[in-house]
This record gives sequence, structure tokens and C-alpha cells, in this order.
Amino acid sequence: MMDIRPSPPLVYHACDHEKPPVMENAMNRDWHEAHPIPPKATRRQRVEWHLAHSQACGCRPPPPSLLPEIRDLERQRLLAVEGGAIR
Ligand SMILES: [Zn+2]
Repeated sequence: MMDIRPSPPLVYHACDHEKPPVMENAMNRDWHEAHPIPPKATRRQRVEWHLAHSQACGCRPPPPSLLPEIRDLERQRLLAVEGGAIR
């Protein structure tokens, strides 16, 4: 009896797929170059920086100690946008 099983593919990656997308948490170099954190940043500046950072990059999470303030600032921004659009 003849064995007519199809032979397994010899080459698995002969296709021209693009490389897989970079990981979501990969560092956004361009953003970091455009937004250096000031060496003597005030707490408020750090909160603003981390808010922008979490939206643009997210290579590392904001420090837990700043998280409540970052959330507050984010909410204020959202309210300001909604209220300011009508003026
Ligand atoms: Zn980052």
C-alpha cells in the first residue's frame, strides 16, 4: 500500500510578511526627544508630563504616588475641552 501523505511544508516563512508590529509598550523615542522631563520639574510639571506621556508613549507606568493627581488633571482637561468648545 502506497503512502500518499502530503509531505509537510519544508519552508514555513517563505512569505513576505512584514515584521510584527512593535510592542505596544515600546518606547516612543520621538516623543521622548520632544518632551524631555525637566531636571527640576515641579510636582505639577511631573503630573503634566506623566499625563502626556501615558497618552503618547507608556513605556513605563506613572509612579503610583502621582497617579491620583494625573487622573484629576486628565479629568480637568476633559471638562475644559467640553466646556471650552461652546464658548
Ligand atoms: Zn515613554
